[in-house]
Amino acid sequence: MIYADNAATTKMSQTAADAMLSCMGEAWGNASSLYKFGQKTAETLEAAREKAASCLGVADPREIYFTSGGSEADNQAILSVARSSAKQGKKHIVSTAFEHHAVLHTLKKLEKEGFEVDLLDVHENGMISPEQVAKAIREDTCLVTTMYANNEIGSILPIAEIGAVCRERGVLFHTDAVQAAGHLPIDVQKENIDLLSLSGHKFHGPKGTGILYAKKGVPLLNLIEGGAQERGKRAGTENVPAIVGMAAALEEACANMEEDTRKVVAMRQRLIEGLSKIPHSALNGDTERRLPGNVNFCFEGIEGESLLLLLDDRGICASSGSACTSGSLDPSHVLLSIGRPHEVAHGSLRLSLCADNTEEDVDKILQAVPEVVSYLRSISPLWKEKVSGERSFLLPE
Ligand SMILES: *Cc1c(COP(=O)(O)O)cnc(C)c1O
Repeated sequence: MIYADNAATTKMSQTAADAMLSCMGEAWGNASSLYKFGQKTAETLEAAREKAASCLGVADPREIYFTSGGSEADNQAILSVARSSAKQGKKHIVSTAFEHHAVLHTLKKLEKEGFEVDLLDVHENGMISPEQVAKAIREDTCLVTTMYANNEIGSILPIAEIGAVCRERGVLFHTDAVQAAGHLPIDVQKENIDLLSLSGHKFHGPKGTGILYAKKGVPLLNLIEGGAQERGKRAGTENVPAIVGMAAALEEACANMEEDTRKVVAMRQRLIEGLSKIPHSALNGDTERRLPGNVNFCFEGIEGESLLLLLDDRGICASSGSACTSGSLDPSHVLLSIGRPHEVAHGSLRLSLCADNTEEDVDKILQAVPEVVSYLRSISPLWKEKVSGERSFLLPE
């Protein structure tokens, strides 16, 4: 099997699994208990917090809050800042049209509470500029939230510059860095980030783990009532083994980042070059500012779902931004946001690699995808109409 869906989730690393197992055997006491055995767990927890802080350029480990994942961190960051700022009459939020649903749906909820949300248009190449952000900020803006890197098309936003704009205007800046953490170097201080979300299972850590970084002084609300864990901001006995596994995975990913990036980028470039040769195809996202492992193409005249199923038959696990996988008939909001027409957006393929992939995987994918695309086109009535000239092509030859 070739696993090329690392943007959806990753396999846990042996380092993370070992760290979890040893934690389960040794530090299983309750970190809130006063006896030494509980305090040992508390120390294990704080060591994980320090490890995570040092990987992200966080000044004080107390600015790290452990959550159940990226979605929870996004929800808590956005709801906290918005609801706290509403008291000062600041009810305007700036975000982008291609955020993850954890952000977009949270913003929808706030709109129902009377907030006004501006979603910035995404450039054709999947970029948002600091100038766009500057233009959108108003007197009553309480929060700017833009993702660090897009999960579908892999484009990497100019985060430090967007952060600088927010600092200058006195607006808090949150970034959903779920796709970036463990894959790109992050320094929250140098990049002017006030709040950041990440998720353990996107960098070979355990599922159900995440981090919300919130700079000292940023108002955080507790969304779960209960005990005083996580400085009173996130009640519930900590999942210490999972937290330890996430911290170990993050440390490992950051230590290996340069080497892994070199390897993964080489495979990505070979895929992009090879798949570009398919007629009437187009690469989605930026060619340069792109996540190391992300490949995303639109192939005219096919349905993404059919492509995925046929690739699955050949042992290739990939993803498509398009519809039916997510139970709706709408194509990916991300592909629509960069201006792909509905029809083209339906024929998308995302391959996301990690350092466990091999050059042989790339060879097999480069063999399979063109064959499957050709086959699907050969049985498509729509494609026949295009070839015969009754209907026009939307993507160049
Ligand atoms: C996966 C993902 C999330 C959600 O993270 P979970 O830990 O699965 O809740 C949020 N944002 C982005 C960009 C993602 O890729």
